[in-house]
Amino acid sequence: RAKMEGRGTWRFFEPAMDASLQRRRAIELDLREAMVKDEFSLFYQPLYDLHLDRICGFEALLRWHHPKRGLVPPDQFIPIAEEIGLIGPLGEWVLNRACEQATTWPSEMKLAVNVSAVQFRDADFTDVVVGALATSKLSPRRLELEITESVFLANSNETLATLHKLKAQGVRIALDDFGTGYSSLSYLRSFPFDKLKIDKSFVRDATATHGSKSIVRAVISLGRSLGMTTIAEGIETVEQLDHMRAEGCNEAQGFLFSHPVPVTEIAAKILELRNGFKPASVKAMAS
Ligand code: C2E
Ligand code: MG
Ligand code: MG
Ligand code: MG
Repeated sequence: RAKMEGRGTWRFFEPAMDASLQRRRAIELDLREAMVKDEFSLFYQPLYDLHLDRICGFEALLRWHHPKRGLVPPDQFIPIAEEIGLIGPLGEWVLNRACEQATTWPSEMKLAVNVSAVQFRDADFTDVVVGALATSKLSPRRLELEITESVFLANSNETLATLHKLKAQGVRIALDDFGTGYSSLSYLRSFPFDKLKIDKSFVRDATATHGSKSIVRAVISLGRSLGMTTIAEGIETVEQLDHMRAEGCNEAQGFLFSHPVPVTEIAAKILELRNGFKPASVKAMAS
C-alpha cells in the first residue's frame, strides 16, 4: 500500500519499518538461544482474597533478561515465540519451573500460570500439564491455568475437549483479560470456567466512567450466577480496591498490593499479606 501512495510516502515510511523489522529479526534470533542461555526467569504477583482478606496465591509472569537489551516485556516476545514455534518448549519450561517453585509455598497458596492460545492448541498440551504436576508433585487443585478468549477462535470442539481433560485432572481454568476478546459470550455456556479475570482496562475506569462501572457489576453478577469466581486485575488505588470489594468481587491483584517480584521475595510477600493488607499511606501513618 505504501508504494501506491507514491514515492515520497514510501521513502518516508521506509526507515521506521526497517528499524522495527530489524529489531524483530534480532529478537527472533536471540529468542531461539535464550532458553539454552538460561535468560528467562519467573516473577510472581500476589493474588489477594477479598473475603478472607489475605493473600491466596501468585500469578507467574515470564521475564526475559536480555544481555544487551535488558528486560524485554512478555508482550514483546511472546507473540514472536508463538510465530516461530518456540512457545511450546517455552510454555513447558514455565509450567515446570512454576509448579516446582510453588511446592515450596504454604499449601493454601494457589499458582496461576498463563497459557498462550497457540500453546493450548498443541496436541500434547494436556500431557505437558500432567507431566509438570507429576514431576513437581504439586496438587492439581493448586494450579490455575489462565487462558484468553482467543483460544475459542479456532476449533472449538478441540478446545472444549482439552478444557474437559484438564478439568478432569483437577486443574482450574481462568479466563484472562475477560471482556477484551472478540468472541461472543456463548463459550461461557459451553464450558464451566472456574474464574473470570476482569481486565484491567475495566478496573481502571470502574471508579470513573459509568460504562465500565456497569460492565464490572455485570461481570461479577454473571460470574456469581454461573458459579465462577471473579478477580479484578490491575488494582492500583485504594478507591479501586474498595469499589471491587463493595461490588462483591472475590479476589484482587495489582500494583497496590504488590508488583510482580522475583522468587526470592515470595516468602516476604506472604508474611506481609497473610494477615490483611494495609495500603502504604495507612502504614506510614501508623508508624
Ligand atoms: P496478564 O496475564 O493479563 O498479566 C497481567 C499483566 O498486568 C502483567 O504484565 C502484570 O505485570 C501487569 N499488572 C499487574 N498489576 C498491574 C497494575 O496494577 N497496573 C498495571 N498497569 N499493570 C499491572 P506483564 O508481566 O508484562 O505480562 C503481560 C502479559 O504477557 C500477561 O498479561 C500475559 O498475557 C503474558 N504473559 C506473561 N507471562 C506469560 C507466560 O508465562 N506465558 C504466556 N503465554 N504469557 C505470559
Ligand atoms: Mg494472566
Ligand atoms: Mg490479564
Ligand atoms: Mg493481559
